[in-house]
Amino acid sequence: MDLKSSHTAPVLTDPAPISKSRLGVHSSLLPYSPPGAFSSDLFLAIPRKKTGVLDDVRANSWLDAMKASSPPHKKMAKESINEVGSPDKDVAYRTWLLQYPSALASFEQIMNCAKGKRIALFLDYDGTLSPIVDNPDCAFMSDAMRAVVKKVAKYFPTAIISGRSRDKVFEFVRLTELYYAGSHGMDIMGPVRQSVSKDDPDNIRSTDEQGKEVTLFQPAKEFLPMIVEVFHSLVENTKEIKGVKVENNKFCVSVHYRNVEEKYWATVAQCVDEILKQYPRLRLTHGRKVLEVRPVINWDKGKAVMFLLESLGLSNCDDVLPIYVGDDRTDEDAFKVLREGNCGYGILVSSAPKESKAFYSLRDPSEVLEFLKSFVMWKQSSAL
Ligand SMILES: [Mg+2]
Repeated sequence: MDLKSSHTAPVLTDPAPISKSRLGVHSSLLPYSPPGAFSSDLFLAIPRKKTGVLDDVRANSWLDAMKASSPPHKKMAKESINEVGSPDKDVAYRTWLLQYPSALASFEQIMNCAKGKRIALFLDYDGTLSPIVDNPDCAFMSDAMRAVVKKVAKYFPTAIISGRSRDKVFEFVRLTELYYAGSHGMDIMGPVRQSVSKDDPDNIRSTDEQGKEVTLFQPAKEFLPMIVEVFHSLVENTKEIKGVKVENNKFCVSVHYRNVEEKYWATVAQCVDEILKQYPRLRLTHGRKVLEVRPVINWDKGKAVMFLLESLGLSNCDDVLPIYVGDDRTDEDAFKVLREGNCGYGILVSSAPKESKAFYSLRDPSEVLEFLKSFVMWKQSSAL
């Protein structure tokens, strides 16, 4: 992870997949004149004069990261049908599996480590429980996936940790058995924490949809008005770019470019950069075909995992095995916490070789489904 300091707001860039060469994109970084499809409004929002070297360097890192974070979603999968049979790709993937073994193939080994331990399960949503789709509003999980997550939650404390707003991810999942952390862990609804003072402003006692008492933890609460402001500015600034979708995720804003033609990605980056320059307390992170603007606070999915473990009374316990399954750059914070704490396993969902702090891998959500089914069967058979 490179921390680029050429901007007032730090920029976290995504490392390129191992098999993908870095793209030389310098010429495309020059502010280009989009074809007639764009109105003059766009040119008001985007400076057309040539940017300085520093700007080019920054834009280069953004574009590089945007290209590196391209997910193998269904449209790309169609384009790369030949890749399935490509010996080079197969060899690269199989070689990568030596470093990040399949969690399905290694299931017995994982369960051997889990013997006598209490498992806590953390699941990302997009690209993990649901496929990456063209319209982020339609990232529905299958009934089969919902059924198996419900069963898993019956046996193990289970939480969803997503970049989406907590309400949005709950709308997709609709299971009251789970704990939910939205906005990359900046909006957590978890179990009541007995150890917390009632005067702590970040921890609010609340009730969930079932009337059950819960703790609401929102460490970036003060940023709410700023995020709303930035959301509206981003909608306005990107409205002429075909395919862009700006999503208000409560404590962060996502700018999806998965439906934007690649030749316009530089324009997307420039629009976001123009806004970010005005908000030094916000920063940019890269997800899968999404730029995310979020508060500069010391909080991420890794911290959210530790918070939830503590809330569940499972932190600092030798007999606990946390398992985190996710596909995104932001999930790496959770993988890192588990790896460095030597206290659990990260499982990266990826169909392409990628550097990761995870221990294991699964190819796609269909393998996640099989993995969760194995969990349920293992628990049911061990209870016999
Ligand atoms: Mg994801």
